[in-house]
Amino acid sequence: MNAEIISVGSELLLGQIVNTNAAFLSKELAILGVNVYYQTTVGDNHSRLTYALEQAQSRSDLVILTGGLGPTKDDLTKESVAALVSKSLVHDVQSLHNIEAFFKKRNRPMSENNRKQALVIEGSHVLSNHYGMAPGMVVSCKGVKFVLLPGPPKEMIPMYSKELLPYLSQEIGGRESITSRVLRFFDIGESQLETDVLDLIEAQTNPTIAPLASEGEVTLRLTVKHADKNEQKRLLDETEERIQERVGQYLYGYEDTSLMEQLFLLLQEKRCTIATAESLTGGKFPGWLTSFSGSSSVYRGGIVSYATDVKENVLGVSKETIEEYGVISRECAMEMASSAKKQYSADIAISFTGVAGPNTQENKEPGMVFIGIAGLAEEPIYYELNLTGGREAVRDRAVKYGCFYLLNELKRWNKAE
Ligand code: ATP
Ligand code: MG
Repeated sequence: MNAEIISVGSELLLGQIVNTNAAFLSKELAILGVNVYYQTTVGDNHSRLTYALEQAQSRSDLVILTGGLGPTKDDLTKESVAALVSKSLVHDVQSLHNIEAFFKKRNRPMSENNRKQALVIEGSHVLSNHYGMAPGMVVSCKGVKFVLLPGPPKEMIPMYSKELLPYLSQEIGGRESITSRVLRFFDIGESQLETDVLDLIEAQTNPTIAPLASEGEVTLRLTVKHADKNEQKRLLDETEERIQERVGQYLYGYEDTSLMEQLFLLLQEKRCTIATAESLTGGKFPGWLTSFSGSSSVYRGGIVSYATDVKENVLGVSKETIEEYGVISRECAMEMASSAKKQYSADIAISFTGVAGPNTQENKEPGMVFIGIAGLAEEPIYYELNLTGGREAVRDRAVKYGCFYLLNELKRWNKAE
């Protein structure tokens, strides 16, 4: 099967955005053993898109398009493909229902434009969009399959993995189907992870192992091809086990999860309540934790003790500690955690103090962070980090490290009855 990718969007041609969609799809298709012979980028222009489609139709079996599925005037991918295959556009009932529900929930009026997003090409196989409004679709014409995917990567990637991959694998594999499993790692760089498992990646053909980097984390995706579901699972388990032997200590979860979600689930499972005391992270940790419904069963409350006198007078860090060691110190982090645990009557507490940057503080370099945890052992414990990156990156990564350390520590912890 020969494929080609058409990326639609004038922003791509103007250099305003980088075409990460084409790179992603090319890598994915290679894993499936599909040859990608052409990648075309075309602006939001009906006649030039039609020209690209006609060329693709003449030389490829599979044509994957991304972009231009939105509600605005410049989004014309569906219209152009429909015209090429001489089909009309019809409303997809499920998609229309999803869009209506979206607006109803937010109490916002729905415009005619939004109804347009639920239009699909007549007779196409619809791909649901779990992260946005516009559905994707697959339409066949004269032996060529056209796949239409949304432009935003956060919609396109999950639609590919959850909707298109199972569909394509059946088309390509016949009786055999393809399943994938994503392993998520933290505290290990992409190159280190690759080095540690390189021989496995190179030797492995079923499942294949593909590293993918995403926002400060790395993932490995195992893709297996087999007719029997049980055998698929066995092959995936076996490969995962070999990976775990090498880098298991960095593995924190599977598929679309996050460090905070894993922590939230573990806190729930252990019936462990948590409090927070934060300085440089300014409320980020509880901000992320409380994004999960049901977080009230684990989160007690916390304080953003940003100013030194608030650390002392409100949170209760001792004057001596602050004078002797400063606020950016392991001693301060541990006292912050102990005080928060006590004040909020929680099983455990976590604290963050450090230098977000760009300036130094107490002669300490940006990126120096202390995380304190109280309640897991007799005495509070601390972790020291020297993070790189700008202010936001340091704050985000501090929170992620906090989650990662807590996850590891909590696995061994049990609530005293
Ligand atoms: P929307 O409903 O957001 O309009 P769409 O399917 O119409 O989605 P576009 O309007 O073409 O898609 O692009 C929307 C955004 O998606 C772009 O601004 C860009 O951020 C991102 N995007 C589009 N194409 C690509 C691409 N090839 N690679 C990376 N990002 C892309
Ligand atoms: Mg658009």
